[in-house]
Amino acid sequence: MLIRSDWKNASQFHDLSEVEVLREVARRVGEAKSRSQKPIVLLDLDSTLYEVAPRTHQILVEWMDTPEAREFPMVVRELRRLEHAHVGYSLKDTFGALGLSASNGEVDSALKSAKAFWLGRFFTNEYLRHDRAYPGAAPFVREVHGLGALVVYLTGRDAPGMGDGTVENLVRDGFPWEPATTHLLLKPAYGLPDLDHKKGAADFIRSRGELVASFENEPANLVAIYEIFPEAMHVFVETVSSDHAAPAASGLYRIRSFE
Ligand SMILES: [Mg+2]
Repeated sequence: MLIRSDWKNASQFHDLSEVEVLREVARRVGEAKSRSQKPIVLLDLDSTLYEVAPRTHQILVEWMDTPEAREFPMVVRELRRLEHAHVGYSLKDTFGALGLSASNGEVDSALKSAKAFWLGRFFTNEYLRHDRAYPGAAPFVREVHGLGALVVYLTGRDAPGMGDGTVENLVRDGFPWEPATTHLLLKPAYGLPDLDHKKGAADFIRSRGELVASFENEPANLVAIYEIFPEAMHVFVETVSSDHAAPAASGLYRIRSFE
């Protein structure tokens, strides 16, 4: 089981450009249609179709104005330089990108304070509106949908806390959203493990058609779906990922953007 760059280095990806990978997905959608199968394209949301850095950025800006944050003047001073490019998977990654190491006592205390503030906001409809679709993501999903694919958005977001905001964003950003030809699979409750939720979607997918491709930024989720559907394309979207370990895999696809 490997983490982040170790997983990437140990895994084997087809040597194709972004455009070639996306064209191959579209080709296979058409090919499945020609065999009278219902092609399915499975898409993760956070850090796959959507950049969530602006969501975290907004929350940190608000945290800096809290009375609690005033106890950490050095950290707040450094955080004033924060740009979206600094925002990593976790707040620890984000602080680290600004040179703030948790081995420093003030940084460690500030991280705990900011994390508690962030946790109360990040997984909510209200803050979802700060997310931005990655360039090219919506046009690509519209393309495969137009070719006849069933589009399934499979996300670790929970229905009670984030369902409404998720749909609002999909519509706002021009992603396909139609009752019969798109599905949004949210977790029924916050706190259920993402991996179990994503593996649990397999029966739903099998009952609807033939999985052509999945897109995912989390190695553990990507490999889990790959193991269930080895004949489909599995596309690693190389943005940010957690430090959850995953087994190395071969025969994967990789894109860094949808452009
Ligand atoms: Mg994700």
